[in-house]
Amino acid sequence: MIKMIKKGEIVVKADDFGMLVEELYRAALRPKGPRYTQEWLDTKLREWWPKLDEYCQRQIMCAIEVAILLDEPPRSGREPLEYRTMWEKIVKDLRPARSPFTIKYCCDQCKVEDVKLWRQSNTFADYIKLQCASCLAPGEVVNEKGKFTDPSYGYETDQLKGCVPAIPVGDTYWGYTSVPSQDVEWWVALPTYKKS
Ligand SMILES: [Zn+2]
Repeated sequence: MIKMIKKGEIVVKADDFGMLVEELYRAALRPKGPRYTQEWLDTKLREWWPKLDEYCQRQIMCAIEVAILLDEPPRSGREPLEYRTMWEKIVKDLRPARSPFTIKYCCDQCKVEDVKLWRQSNTFADYIKLQCASCLAPGEVVNEKGKFTDPSYGYETDQLKGCVPAIPVGDTYWGYTSVPSQDVEWWVALPTYKKS
């Protein structure tokens, strides 16, 4: 069967298409990148998004999020991110929903639910014990973002007593460095301590 192609249209393989779109948006995010209009970038990405595979969507989303992060706070000598509000809206609209999980998310020690939990790292998922801030680090003050200043390091970290944020996906946990941003936000938004 022959598919008619309109004049000026070209045909690319799905893989190449994803790469082209990714390259185009990476270029558009660079300071002094090619001059596309805001409307064109916005409309085209939303139109193409469902046709992109998951890997490609993640790459583009990551590039946009990094560009927004680098833009904050504005630095002298640095070109501000153009169309920033549009990029932020794209992230909000197109980013996948938080990963579903089946783990019972409660502290193994005091059974509290709906608070941030930490897990040991380098432990098989089956043996992981989840702990809340109160049980894991009694007497320490962990802030509402799940960070505290470890005196032995002297800087703010979300690692607590050798444990890392427990961010579930399916029946296991994301590796510390590979958590998608929407899942990090879910964890950060959980209260650190149960309101009494
Ligand atoms: Zn607890």
